[in-house]
Amino acid sequence: MKRVSGKSQRETWKYLREQEVELDVLPRGGHPLWAMLYPARYEVGMANLGYQTIISEMRTLGVGIERFFSGRLSSLSVEAERSISDFPLISASIAYEPDILTLLSVFRGWGISPCPEERESQGQPVFGVGGALSYINPLVFSGVADYVVLGDGEKVVDHLVREARRYVRDGDRSKFRRALAEHPSIYVPPLHDRIILRGEKVHKHRNIIDNLDDARGKSLWVAPSSVFGKTVLVELQRGCRRNCSFCTIPSSFGKPRTRSLARVLEDVSSVDFLEGVQVGLVAPETGDYPALEELLSAVDSLGAAVSFASLRVDNINEAMIKSLARSGRHTLTVAPEAGNERLRRACGKHFSDDLVIERLSMASHMGIRKVKLYFMMGLPGETTSDMDDIARLCGRVRSESGLQVRASVGVFVPKPMTFWEKVEMISDDEAHSRKDRLNKLFRDGPGKGCRVNFQEPREAAVEFAIAWKGVSPANKFLSYPRGKASFPKPGLEQRELLLEQLGLLGYH
Ligand code: SF4
Repeated sequence: MKRVSGKSQRETWKYLREQEVELDVLPRGGHPLWAMLYPARYEVGMANLGYQTIISEMRTLGVGIERFFSGRLSSLSVEAERSISDFPLISASIAYEPDILTLLSVFRGWGISPCPEERESQGQPVFGVGGALSYINPLVFSGVADYVVLGDGEKVVDHLVREARRYVRDGDRSKFRRALAEHPSIYVPPLHDRIILRGEKVHKHRNIIDNLDDARGKSLWVAPSSVFGKTVLVELQRGCRRNCSFCTIPSSFGKPRTRSLARVLEDVSSVDFLEGVQVGLVAPETGDYPALEELLSAVDSLGAAVSFASLRVDNINEAMIKSLARSGRHTLTVAPEAGNERLRRACGKHFSDDLVIERLSMASHMGIRKVKLYFMMGLPGETTSDMDDIARLCGRVRSESGLQVRASVGVFVPKPMTFWEKVEMISDDEAHSRKDRLNKLFRDGPGKGCRVNFQEPREAAVEFAIAWKGVSPANKFLSYPRGKASFPKPGLEQRELLLEQLGLLGYH
């Protein structure tokens, strides 16, 4: 008998299933069979609250939904290790632009066509999409998806499931698409793209839940192998009241809406095994949650640990640091974005270098040992001296706060519906040369003693190209380069065309 190595044992769905704790009793099995793909590793996908939320909604409606992830076991479901070929319906949750390339590669591995028309003619599954990217630019899925759920998936799911059940009964895909197209928050590329190409309006809008207390707001599983470890994810807020120039959240994710403290506490206290489990607070900017201090002290009294995503420096206060330190966390993550106040202000982050030092020194005195600092290079108006300031600021943080510093430098990518949507992105060559310069300043200059890592310029170029893909008569994904070939940078004309098409869809 063939021996199974420790690694492959660990990677089997059975092993991961046995580690998971399901927090609510929801129906299992059901009808129709529906594959829900997250196009990344299990560890990453299970850290996504939106993915878990939509699965909870579908299970509540009695759908036989099963999870799929990319990787070695991508063709088998987590739940029943059922083959993808058994599923008449596939959905995917897409959070970031490059996930689409992973999605296409998973489809290749499955032997399923990425084109809706080919899937139809070959009797392959219907494929739908939801997730964060659908809030920003759903037209990116033109030529790939049969339908895209726009905005908050809750509520839209009722219509989707009802029509999917009809489709599975009668097998009429055209009728299914027409029925989905009747919903104001479902975009159906095979039907709507020709209307958009004619320059006519489609009249769709993002579904936005006004009262977030109506949303589930809590993860369905504690999945110890997820990148967050043993964590219950609890949602605090959607939308953001700030207006950072590079950020898609204020314009695309609806007005800021918070869950009430009572609902959040209900979620936290409903978990009856909080020892050893941390509560992961999910919000675009956790520090903006109005009842944060009360929440932290309540979580503290329940004996649970707490974790935040990246924080705004100007939001950091003693209560937050105390909670983190008490939770045994010694690393803080903040995003100054730029190395000096002028450029930071242009980004929409109005705080000084001195405030960065002051808040991080406070954190250091209260038990935090490391800080991760996120920056962007290639910001509009950035000079060489601005770049050098990244290394200088990191050096100052290290020497004045005593924290170990790890800087992470990404390349600025202009995104649709942001204040900086039409500015130029730096070329790959320029990004490489700025990276080399900054690397030297971290090796032998003012950033010495701090660690630094960089986003690969090619990754940012891929993100840029996909972010601006819209409706076109040809399916652009099929002609996208593979391997290390460079991606075409969208020019101003292409970007203006996409914005016009998003307007026709009803997005602005
Ligand atoms: S970067 Fe953060 S604080 Fe700024 S708008 Fe986006 S979510 Fe809000």
